[in-house]
Amino acid sequence: MVDHQYRLVIDGQSIATEGTFDVLNPSDGQVVGAAPKATVAQLDQAVSAAQTAYEKWSKADDTTRQKACVAIADTLRDHAEELAQLLTLEQGKPLNGMGSRYELGGAEAWARYTAGLELPVKVLQDDNQGRVELHRKPVGVVGSITPWNWPLMIAIWHIVPAIRTGNTVVIKPSPLTPLSTIRMIELLNTVLPAGVLNCVTGENDIGAAMSSHPGIAKIVFTGSTETGKKIMAGAAATLKRLTLELGGNDAGIVLPDCDSRQIAEGLFWGAFINGGQTCAALKRLYVHEDIYEDVCRELTSFAATVKVGDGLSEDSVLGPVQNRMQYQKVKDLVNDAKGRGGRILIGGNSDDNAPGNFYPVTLVADLNNGDRLVDEEQFGPALPIIKYSDLDEVIRRANDNPNGLGGSVWGRDIAKAKKVASQLECGSVWINKHGAIQPNVPFGGVKGSGLGVEFAEDGLAEYTTIQVIFQ
Ligand code: NAD
Repeated sequence: MVDHQYRLVIDGQSIATEGTFDVLNPSDGQVVGAAPKATVAQLDQAVSAAQTAYEKWSKADDTTRQKACVAIADTLRDHAEELAQLLTLEQGKPLNGMGSRYELGGAEAWARYTAGLELPVKVLQDDNQGRVELHRKPVGVVGSITPWNWPLMIAIWHIVPAIRTGNTVVIKPSPLTPLSTIRMIELLNTVLPAGVLNCVTGENDIGAAMSSHPGIAKIVFTGSTETGKKIMAGAAATLKRLTLELGGNDAGIVLPDCDSRQIAEGLFWGAFINGGQTCAALKRLYVHEDIYEDVCRELTSFAATVKVGDGLSEDSVLGPVQNRMQYQKVKDLVNDAKGRGGRILIGGNSDDNAPGNFYPVTLVADLNNGDRLVDEEQFGPALPIIKYSDLDEVIRRANDNPNGLGGSVWGRDIAKAKKVASQLECGSVWINKHGAIQPNVPFGGVKGSGLGVEFAEDGLAEYTTIQVIFQ
């Protein structure tokens, strides 16, 4: 697909733009393709097309909408390899491991599961006083703004529930990974009525224009907390509905009864899935002093076995950092940690002159809250490890963060682990694993990690408004 002409998708048509921008391969810095740079006038066209399509789509019967979502899942299945190759080229993640093929598999599974969800009319009262029914209605045009870490799966998380419930969509992917989204939207347009799903790509100004656009009724956004705040401010004047999935700085707490060898692999992938560029990855690891050195040793030996390389190589299981800004951020945080007495167990140095944005898998022990690598979301392949002795104190430290997306507790005594879990201030807590998400379970953050949830009936309901009918 490198020779493909990437264009906007508006009203089922491929639309050229005057300007384009280059998209780079994070493994070698080479240009993967040119993405169209939409103007705000082209965004307006996309919103108008979505508004026109909404008139019919919002009235389509439930079976039609359900079938369309199944067709989306089938299309993803039929084009999975093509999309995975393109995703690896622009995102950097490997084809294998929990990389591009895994992401496409997830996108299909989410689409298929969501297609089968229902929000039936709820009878709230039916007696001699009268009958009251609660109906769910679509909101209108949904604006979807997506990040660069899991671009296709997150796009599907936004698009499918919106379409399933009778809305139409304008999606704007990250300028760092727009090509795979454009291609996916082109393919999905072959199974959807014109105007139901539109795609505009451009720079951040397009996202800002979407937030304040009077023709968009809801924004679903996945990205950083700072951008989420700007979107919320931009959306205020038009009172948009919002679902905001924002940053995370998930803590994991390892209790003293753990077997260090047994948990090492789960801890590693909880933190390093997608090279740590995952919202609900384990980003701070607190380990009880009794097993602290054991856990450090086991994690280091597991980390040493992991093959990092160009994503297109079939034996890589981790790729480069997606972009130079993020690479520099991870590097700065690790350097800061070193300066504050952090002990590098593995990794910790990179070659700025080597091709691509490769940063090694890095474990830094002996840090604490107050160190930047602990307090800030690193969003890359570097994990701080913190020693603790008192359980109440470690729960306080885990909660001492503006984010509240996920968390995990590791221990053999499950009742005790669950008691600790219930005290963590976050939307999801896992016991003896980290970051597992499923389409039948709502997912969302508390505190600075966002507003609302995605997935399952609760997530679907966010694409609707309530109307009650009294009779
Ligand atoms: P980002 O906030 O920089 O960008 C996300 C999207 O917002 C991009 O499409 C970008 O072009 C757009 N954007 C930028 N400025 C905008 C503005 N002023 N108005 C509207 N849109 C604007 O985030 P990112 O760096 O692409 O993604 C990484 C972040 O996303 C991390 O913080 C991560 O934790 C978070 N994330 C959260 C979840 C979740 O489910 N909670 C999932 C994945 C990623």
